[in-house]
Amino acid sequence: MRSSRRESEKRHSTFSLPKLGAASLSSDMDDACYKLCEKLVPKNYIQQGQNAKSIHQSKIRHLLEQRRIPEEGWDDQTIELFLGELAIMDSNNFPDNCGVGEREARIYSSLVSKRHFRLGHGIGRSGEITAVQPKAAGSSLIMTLTNSLALHAIKLSGIQASSCFVVPMATGMSIALSLLSLKQKRPNAKYVLWPRIDQKSCIKSIVTSGFELVVIENVREGEELRTNLEEIQRKVQELGAGNILCILTTTSCFAPRVPDKLEEIGEICKSQDIPHVVNNAYGLQCSKCTHLIQQASRSRLDVFVQSTDKNFMVPVGGSIIAGFDDNLIRHISKCYPGRASSSPSTDLLITLLSMGVKGYKDLLKERKSNYKALQEKLSECAKKHGERLLSTPHNGISMGMSLQTFQCNTEEAVTDLGSKLFTRLVSGTRVIPTDGKKSEICGRTFTSFGAHCDDYGSPYLTAAAAIGMTSQDIDLFITRLDKVLTKSAKTKDSNQVDS
Ligand SMILES: *Cc1c(COP(=O)(O)O)cnc(C)c1O
Repeated sequence: MRSSRRESEKRHSTFSLPKLGAASLSSDMDDACYKLCEKLVPKNYIQQGQNAKSIHQSKIRHLLEQRRIPEEGWDDQTIELFLGELAIMDSNNFPDNCGVGEREARIYSSLVSKRHFRLGHGIGRSGEITAVQPKAAGSSLIMTLTNSLALHAIKLSGIQASSCFVVPMATGMSIALSLLSLKQKRPNAKYVLWPRIDQKSCIKSIVTSGFELVVIENVREGEELRTNLEEIQRKVQELGAGNILCILTTTSCFAPRVPDKLEEIGEICKSQDIPHVVNNAYGLQCSKCTHLIQQASRSRLDVFVQSTDKNFMVPVGGSIIAGFDDNLIRHISKCYPGRASSSPSTDLLITLLSMGVKGYKDLLKERKSNYKALQEKLSECAKKHGERLLSTPHNGISMGMSLQTFQCNTEEAVTDLGSKLFTRLVSGTRVIPTDGKKSEICGRTFTSFGAHCDDYGSPYLTAAAAIGMTSQDIDLFITRLDKVLTKSAKTKDSNQVDS
């Protein structure tokens, strides 16, 4: 018994999507059922009902054939029908199943079961996150389909990547997994060159993985903070290319920092044979970021990682690891130890089916126009208070507004402005002081952490136009910001501001 089970598992270990006909999908009501229904209710009514059902079925069949995001988004009923069919294929839902293993997807609470559409097996097999689970054909279909749809979404965003997989970990952990996977190919390398981006998870992804962080301070060009290419080249010479695990660059970031110079860094990586990993946390939604990734892939770009929640409006919990070399992406997926939650994949699958290509493209367009609107309105508001927008044309998501005439050179003043906005239910803005404060992160000391550089010279606040933002959000933000600024202390002329 045991050995024959093992053999059947082996046969399943390389996965290809089964060819499902329409008949095998209609496990709830088959033709015989409909015939019986005709004895209870007039035949033409039943046929109408059956026709309606076949519309759902043909959408599902089309998805399984194409493995792409449908052009038109699906309604919730089709999605629920599909998920129901998939759940039926998992062993925990087999009517007569007798589970005697230690992991049988037994779910105590019916609330939890409902929250997961009765799916309990997660994705992968103990060894591998992209392997098919013999006990869970339905969950395995979710995993492979979601990976296909995620790749389609990446392509729609402007990057012609060749493969990707969804990981149930946020961006920082997925970067850590990517770094550790690269380590197997470069056992002697220990340095990660990192153009400074003041996000703690980036630092932790490097340090927690056991690598040595080499901070490349940004340079100021106009009002933008940009990659210091000379310093990168100098560090490569100093440390030796073979000792460098990778250069970890960033696209999406808070202004006045702008996306790293990916193409130029790609050239360095190519000529020195150093892997290039890109933190594309919320960059999929912005053509400036995706264009940079696409261009850099022509020289060298090994892996790029993005968050599912920041790009696709799902709860926090997942990210997509993607690249242009199938073998490398497969290698990283094989390094993931163990099975994984299927929740982030299921959330993304549901969302992409629901959005459709049209819905996603519309959201991208809307974001772009929101960015322009936010820029105009924030600029207007700034002018009114004797301030202005920072000129950061290379950043397509985040923007900064100067706070030179406000008291923002101490931490309290910043907290004050920030907390006033927060109590007015404005979230997501950040006020960056010029206090030169030292912070310790993972044993390293940073000056003015949050500012992406030691001394930017003047305080500012940031706001971002990210996917899903509405024009109403913009108007409310401007109204509330205006009120807060009107009441805030000015460094000069503090009594001349009308309230
Ligand atoms: C969100 C983000 C991260 C990582 O965040 P997670 O919480 O790990 O998803 C890293 N870098 C940047 C630039 C980010 O925006």
